[in-house]
Amino acid sequence: MTAAPEIALDSGPPAKRGPEPEVDPEGRGKAERYTVFAFVFIPLLALAAAVPFAWGWGLTGTDIALGAVFYVISGLGITAGYHRCFTHGSFKPNRPLRIALAVAGSLAIQGSVIKWVADHRRHHKYADAEGDPHSPWRFGDDWRSVAKGLYYAHMAWLYLDEQKTSPKRFAPDLLKDKDIRRVDTMFIPLVAFSLGAPALLGGLITMSWWGALTAFFWAGLVRVALLHHVTWSINSICHTIGEENFEVRDRSRNVWWLAIPSFGESWHNLHHADPTCARHGVLKGQIDITARVIWMFEKLGWASKVRWPNAERLAAKRVTI
Ligand SMILES: [Zn+2]
Ligand SMILES: [Zn+2]
Repeated sequence: MTAAPEIALDSGPPAKRGPEPEVDPEGRGKAERYTVFAFVFIPLLALAAAVPFAWGWGLTGTDIALGAVFYVISGLGITAGYHRCFTHGSFKPNRPLRIALAVAGSLAIQGSVIKWVADHRRHHKYADAEGDPHSPWRFGDDWRSVAKGLYYAHMAWLYLDEQKTSPKRFAPDLLKDKDIRRVDTMFIPLVAFSLGAPALLGGLITMSWWGALTAFFWAGLVRVALLHHVTWSINSICHTIGEENFEVRDRSRNVWWLAIPSFGESWHNLHHADPTCARHGVLKGQIDITARVIWMFEKLGWASKVRWPNAERLAAKRVTI
């Protein structure tokens, strides 16, 4: 008896495959989206509770110092690491720095490095058009649609979007990197570390359980929430309001008042005009802390091939007034 044609096909040479699909056909299950929802709302509730607590509930100098340190480490992990290095290749770090940046970014609890990069590359590919995972303009241009779009682009896409960006399609370079894959699979322990380390340090510094608890609250939950909403404002606010200094085919804008807390990421209009540029705040007076940190990495000999702004290229993209 001869084999059925389907079986014969299976055992034959592999069929020629087209490119990987952009979104995983399996999508994102409810369990995954509910987990993300919890990780979005628990820190947010802590942030809301922090306002009344700040005046009478154990906010100490230790909590502020620990919160600041963890904000800076995890924030730069996102801006210099996840974003400018891993997504856009704005500079080439040496191996220890590359691993340290992936770890630091994971501490921000914004998703594992490969997932974050794949989503962000898809955002640049479709920026404010069909296929962008988080455009505030996806529902339309009238004020109601924009209000809904702002909420969606800011955070709701994280738990409502059923599509899963394919890392095979958008981040094959990172999948090939053994160290980065390892950091990616360590995401959950790194989340635990990000929340547990401030508590441990707060407890040891004050030698009290109470010190551990307040440090967990302020330098853990509240710090994570603050950085969450600053990062997400780049996707929502910086695609809605602000200045258009450079010509782009999307709605990205420069927003000056977010420049310090976002470490320079809110010069988002320039970033879309010249995505691989290591400095986003290229105009006079545009403070870009991340660019300064990359400059330090370069001076220390830890980073090379830094793509600093090119005056001619920028002039060609400048909006003429
Ligand atoms: Zn980008
Ligand atoms: Zn953008």
